[in-house]
Amino acid sequence: MPQIKKLLIANRGEIALRIHRACHEMGIKTVAVHSTADADAMHVRLADEAICIGPPPAGESYLNIPNIISAAEISGADAIHPGYGFLSENAKFAEIVELHNILFVGPKPEHIRVMGDKVEAKRTAGALGLPLVPGSDGAVSDIAEAKAIAERIGYPVIIKAASGGGGRGMKVCNAPDQLETLMQQAGSEAKAAFGDATVYIEKYLGNPRHIEFQVFGDGDGNAIHLGERDCSLQRRHQKVLEEAPSPVLGAEDRARMGGIVAKAMADMGYRGAGTIEFLWENGEFYFIEMNTRLQVEHPVTEMITGVDLVREQIRVAEGHGLSVKQEDIRFTGHAIECRINAEDARTFAPSPGKVTYFHAPGGMHVRVDSGLYAGYRIPPYYDSMIAKLIVYGRTREGCLMRLRRALEEFVVEGVKTTIPLHQALLDDPEFQSGDYTIKWLEEWLAKDA
Ligand code: ADP
Repeated sequence: MPQIKKLLIANRGEIALRIHRACHEMGIKTVAVHSTADADAMHVRLADEAICIGPPPAGESYLNIPNIISAAEISGADAIHPGYGFLSENAKFAEIVELHNILFVGPKPEHIRVMGDKVEAKRTAGALGLPLVPGSDGAVSDIAEAKAIAERIGYPVIIKAASGGGGRGMKVCNAPDQLETLMQQAGSEAKAAFGDATVYIEKYLGNPRHIEFQVFGDGDGNAIHLGERDCSLQRRHQKVLEEAPSPVLGAEDRARMGGIVAKAMADMGYRGAGTIEFLWENGEFYFIEMNTRLQVEHPVTEMITGVDLVREQIRVAEGHGLSVKQEDIRFTGHAIECRINAEDARTFAPSPGKVTYFHAPGGMHVRVDSGLYAGYRIPPYYDSMIAKLIVYGRTREGCLMRLRRALEEFVVEGVKTTIPLHQALLDDPEFQSGDYTIKWLEEWLAKDA
């Protein structure tokens, strides 16, 4: 069985640190790659070696496959972990890595490809027995056909880009007379953003929650689930705060749905970490997509299960079986993650620049995943998320109390952050009661404005 001795981290920011930490805890050396804008980043400082792979724009650095492969060859890395975003769901990259006899810490390229196309993903999920959102059976281009489908499932419907991601490329359509225009708009926007004009149609659910299951496969027909995360708190379809377990799901539903997704992954021969996303309304689950990578919000699952998901990914890439069996997984307590962005907490305008003072909270059951330090200059070129605060409590109530305490301690000076937004959220009785859907945060923000 190949043992990874040196791993190249093809990412930046907090996730690069997260991967570095798992590696050093396993005795694996790390190679950081970075753009010229990130020469002083924490992942570069902590890694055993660092290689510059290009100028600031991601297309010329973090997405630059030839430069990343060269960096792996020059440093003698025997594995590459792509993190999330960037090349993490690029099947071609996974193939190229393997062609160079480097282990790809991620799923099999064919599974990345299938799930990366949302139309294919839905078809595959349906065939594996997952419940789907009612909608078109595949891509739709013909307006008459689109109208017939919308008529059958009932308005409102949502037009989605097959290659969409990051909450972009979606149009809600309320009536037949808007369908043609919105289909055309969705298609041309999808073409511009993702290079693919393919769209499909789904029933637009009125007021669901977003509940996703963490799955893990060994690539050999064995798979487990690690419970769910509730990611209903969203702004512009982007997650703001996540929790595990979901405040609305009981042990029986968890075991039932978890069993279904784990079996689907086993049948597929899925390898590594994955997330199966559902909308949940009136007690029913509806599959929307699968992400074939580690997710931003994975730490809440780690907190309630005690399983180190990155370590598990690395072990599976080496060819080991899963380190835990389904019956060994226990869900204990409650965890919440706040995504902290360098943005104005009211207008969400990005706020890059120099961090003049930084103090991270600590204490029992408090975890901060962040590459920030005093004197660090947040570059304007990348995602604005600068830290994740993850807090655990034996109960949801205890977790909320600890989260409030931790946010109080958190100091970031020199740039604006969304810490005040999280503090205000925590004070809201509806949030406290767990009674919220994917619409809730935007309505709450509008009320406040
Ligand atoms: P992306 O890959 O861009 O994240 P998803 O398909 O995962 O796209 O959807 C992102 C978010 O968009 C969901 O969490 C939900 O808020 C909203 N959404 C997607 N599909 C529907 C639907 N059929 N009805 C209502 N909301 C939806």
